[in-house]
Amino acid sequence: MTSASSKPGSIAHFIAGQHAPGESSRTQDVTNPATGAVTAKVALGAIADVNAAVAAANAAFPAWADTPPIRRARVMFKFLQLLNEHKDELAHLITAEHGKVFTDAQGEVSRGIDIVEFACGIPQLLKGDFTDQVSTGIDNWTLRQPLGVVAGITPFNFPVMVPMWMFPVAIAAGNTFVLKPSPTDPSPSLRIAELFKEAGLPDGVFNVVQGDKVAVDALIEHPDVKAVSFVGSTPIANYIYETGARHGKRVQALGGAKNHMVVMPDADIDQTVDALIGAGYGSAGERCMAISVAVLVGDVADKVIPKLIERTKSLKVLNGTNLAAEMGPIVTRAAHERITGYIALGEKEGAKLLVDGRSFDGNVAGEGCGDGFWMGGTLFDHVTPEMRIYKEEIFGPVLSCVRVANFKDAVDLINAHEFGNGVSCFTRDGNVAREFSRRIQVGMVGINVPIPVPMAWHGFGGWKKSLFGDMHAYGEEGVRFYTKQKSIMQRWPESTPKGAEFVMPTAK
Ligand code: NAD
Repeated sequence: MTSASSKPGSIAHFIAGQHAPGESSRTQDVTNPATGAVTAKVALGAIADVNAAVAAANAAFPAWADTPPIRRARVMFKFLQLLNEHKDELAHLITAEHGKVFTDAQGEVSRGIDIVEFACGIPQLLKGDFTDQVSTGIDNWTLRQPLGVVAGITPFNFPVMVPMWMFPVAIAAGNTFVLKPSPTDPSPSLRIAELFKEAGLPDGVFNVVQGDKVAVDALIEHPDVKAVSFVGSTPIANYIYETGARHGKRVQALGGAKNHMVVMPDADIDQTVDALIGAGYGSAGERCMAISVAVLVGDVADKVIPKLIERTKSLKVLNGTNLAAEMGPIVTRAAHERITGYIALGEKEGAKLLVDGRSFDGNVAGEGCGDGFWMGGTLFDHVTPEMRIYKEEIFGPVLSCVRVANFKDAVDLINAHEFGNGVSCFTRDGNVAREFSRRIQVGMVGINVPIPVPMAWHGFGGWKKSLFGDMHAYGEEGVRFYTKQKSIMQRWPESTPKGAEFVMPTAK
């Protein structure tokens, strides 16, 4: 895959409106997870590459910040149109490097586009407050101004959507941006940069530096970077939050997850099973909002488990390019090894392995898939809270069932978990639903909705170890994160002539 790069056979950076090979000789293989084939090498940016990108973003900032919001919005509208025209192309790039099935990749691009649509409303979103006559002849108003150069550091699992949680809002608000995508699936970021340029975005407003820890550290320590948005695993999120804050930056760092779905005895069983299968194994469980724990209340397990076994065994695990595929491969060989290690651990810890995805043969996923990173869905029953497979994020197609006696035990179990990203409750009882929504210590809650990813204008964010920082991603929280408030108090000399005042001014 070399489509959007400056060197044949390689994928590199996009700085100041141009593809840039960069200064580093370090590279990382990019693989097609379905076949295991190395398709390109991605440059791992050097400090000099980050410095060049930040310098380009800094140089572009004054003019972009001064551009009237309505004109910035017009660039976003054009970008939106181009994204819609190139939606399938972006989805193909995702499938080729991430492995998720094409239809799911289309969904990812659509959810990213939602945020661009939201950002098109920036003139309205930036409107300030005004109070006439706070004192005689004096008015007071607030406005929000952009921060400067801001950075985004993103994970492999949504190479289009997660960057779009960040840069559309940041850029529409008048900031300039440096994106450091995951080196696992770097191509979509460059195509996005090209489309943005085609939409009329001035050079330097959106830059991409590929890389690993070297580029990340250079970004989070750079004096000209004013804010950092991060999405990824919890240990790195914690590190970014602490290091960024130590260097005086605003930071929002979204971390890992272990999302539960409570199934009450009165739930619709068929809907519940559909929801668990889709949310547990969709995108091979590599979603931060994937359901990885089914909390089965009372006797509901006896009704749900047999159906789950049958459906897990009959999952259509195929090359993501096949439109019939329900689940594709695992993203990398290393991730495959981590997940199979957890399955072995679960057995050792005493959980009951009902369906073992390790036995899946890639050859049945499609032609040429024999060396890909394949596994089927895995289902455990009788998982208990002290097991590591319950406590830790596996981030793969492994669904654990925990049995509890009643609703209170379900809520207590979830509230005691260190993560608090998403959660769901399936029930027909309105009071249970209401109590659940109010009592649960989790940032995003679904009632009969397995993956409650908030829409563009609501904002996305977990609680506890799933988010470090104050503000959620996108929505109005995003606008606040990427702007600083200024309050202006104004009086014109001829309106209220008076002498020097030595006491605290009060309304007169
Ligand atoms: P990751 O933490 O390994 O990588 C995320 C980013 O950090 C990448 O750009 C990577 O290059 C960089 N990075 C990795 N190690 C680093 C280090 N030591 N120092 C500095 N930077 C480093 O995450 P991943 O494997 O790409 O993505 C999966 C994780 O992301 C899961 O834990 C998942 O739950 C999480 N995630 C969370 C959300 C959310 O909204 N909370 C959304 C998507 C993914």
